[in-house]
Amino acid sequence: MQTSHVTSAIVLRSWPFGESDKIVSFLTEGHGKLTGIAKGAKRSKKRFVNSLEPFSFVSLNFQDRSKTSLAFILSCELQKSYKNLIASLEKIAFASYYVEITEGLIGEREENRLVFDHLKRSLNRLESEGASITFLIDFELKLLSLTGYQPLLDSCRRCGMHPSLSYAPVQTHWYFSLRDGAILCAGCSKLRKELVPISGATLDLMTNLQQEPNSTFEDPKPSPTVLKQIRSATARFIQFQLNREIKSASFLNQFCS
Ligand SMILES: [Zn+2]
Repeated sequence: MQTSHVTSAIVLRSWPFGESDKIVSFLTEGHGKLTGIAKGAKRSKKRFVNSLEPFSFVSLNFQDRSKTSLAFILSCELQKSYKNLIASLEKIAFASYYVEITEGLIGEREENRLVFDHLKRSLNRLESEGASITFLIDFELKLLSLTGYQPLLDSCRRCGMHPSLSYAPVQTHWYFSLRDGAILCAGCSKLRKELVPISGATLDLMTNLQQEPNSTFEDPKPSPTVLKQIRSATARFIQFQLNREIKSASFLNQFCS
């Protein structure tokens, strides 16, 4: 007899399986990302009432089955539904992207409570404060750090030149290398193709946001160009790491181009 577990979880996505079942992917508080089968989910109003839709915050009761990595979902109870979020196409676009890249950057059953807290907090923020490009950048950068992909921004990956050193040429343009996950100076970036150009101001803000978890975008307020450069670097880096199409990205880009 397998032990059953109860944990808080966020539904990442679900899809039909056979005539009456569903496969559901969750980010759980205590067991990392978990994929399971909800038998009879299309029929059972009792065990799965409105609780298998994406972004639902639920109490999940599951059992591990032998010889398969798919868990058996015993029941799933809705703890919080995001009423404002699911009423807005813009917020749905943001939330869809949040859950898709989270699912892509963590492995099955890799326990990471901080990622769970981050996703939960970010969905709450969408629900109560709305969608904005600064929230999006904040989400991407923190998620990269929490999953071990934090961009390395302190010095050129190849020659070690530091952006803030006085001997760095004033007009130096910097580049973010998707392959290295790090910055390169102009001299070291020749003949490389997978680069995103970034200015000194962009580098400053990205570094601040990484070093000061509670830093904001308000003082001084960054220019739209800086925000666009950060987005370009983070979004393309995430895409590079996932190495597949991010389905929700084009939907999202309709709201933040
Ligand atoms: Zn260099």
